Amino acid sequence: MRAHRLLATCLAWSLLAAPAGATGPDDLQRAAANGDLQRVEALLAEGAAIDTQDARGYTALIWAAQQGRLPLVNALLAHHARTDLADANGYTPLLWAAQQGHAAVLTALLAAGARLDAREKHGYSALDWAARMGYLACVQALLARGADPFARPPGGASADELARRSGQPAVVALFAPPTIPIQTMPATRPSTAWSLLGHSAQGRPIPIATLGDGPRTLLLIGTIHGDEPQGEDVIARLLKDLEAKPDLLAGNRLLAVPVANPDGKAKRSRGNARGVDLNRNFPMRWAPSATGRTFGGPFPLSEPESRLLLALIDRERPSLIVSFHADMRCNNYDGPAAATIAREMARRNGYKLLPDIGYPTPGSLGQQAAYGMGIPIVTLEVGHEAPAPLYAKVRDSLMLGLRAGG
Ligand SMILES: [Zn+2]
Repeated sequence: MRAHRLLATCLAWSLLAAPAGATGPDDLQRAAANGDLQRVEALLAEGAAIDTQDARGYTALIWAAQQGRLPLVNALLAHHARTDLADANGYTPLLWAAQQGHAAVLTALLAAGARLDAREKHGYSALDWAARMGYLACVQALLARGADPFARPPGGASADELARRSGQPAVVALFAPPTIPIQTMPATRPSTAWSLLGHSAQGRPIPIATLGDGPRTLLLIGTIHGDEPQGEDVIARLLKDLEAKPDLLAGNRLLAVPVANPDGKAKRSRGNARGVDLNRNFPMRWAPSATGRTFGGPFPLSEPESRLLLALIDRERPSLIVSFHADMRCNNYDGPAAATIAREMARRNGYKLLPDIGYPTPGSLGQQAAYGMGIPIVTLEVGHEAPAPLYAKVRDSLMLGLRAGG
């Protein structure tokens, strides 16, 4: 990796030398390269196409971002210049701002929705470049926006490794893994084996519990919505219960991910650290959606948490999945395969049976498991019961799920 500041400066001067007064297809880029805000505004008023790219793929916004010209960047963004166009080397305006350390420009681009995951031709992102160059403010802005510090270009170094190369202690410190207090883990006994499924977008561990051994597997998933914590406590109580009375396992295996969305749980938000509803981020029937409560992400499986869950389900092929939510008080199921078990569970826990949740759920875990993988899944929406009464209410339906799968 090396900086292109010198090259960029040479290009700017070569454009300065172009004849003045003449109009041509590159006029807007030339005015932007020269930092001539008035001329840019005049050309736009005359109807110049704002996103035109020159021979090197540079747009006016790329020129402005590369040179750190904030007023010009703001003017172009106000005219809805596209933030996602890249030059011939794959550098978007955001990548240029990160590589050159223009923190204010970078912040303006992020506010305008510039993509964090854009990568130049060698596979490096804006965060990688800001980390490598040791630009603290840029790194802070990118991490705050949800840039993934653990994403790794094929064969390349990750952002935390690049940060160490920058030799800037303040930047290196930003990539230290967060400290997770051990008390947040559910209480365990030796017979429950805990392992690490993977890490969230912000690097929090996602543990998975395994209890029992047998041909049929019940997979429990809690807190895929960070503001619906009930599943975690139910799972902890079920594990204790089964450890004390192992015959209830009836020769089956329980897998449990108590907190599928630890970043969302930490900030009590439905979505993950990047504002994505993980229960809309799966490939089956995924559809583009506006940012907000049910934002399905920029593309299917854009989030590490949903990738981990899908890989787990694909690897383990559970006989039944129960995914905990709150607080619609129902046993919702997708596809005919889960109809019988959902009905029997409903009889035992007293929540209503609901084949259709009543609104579309493109890219949900239910859609993915049922229609993408042929695996029965019940979405168990509990209420606001206190932990002990809630467990008492759902216990028998979960025991049934453990025995009835497969
Ligand atoms: Zn939910």
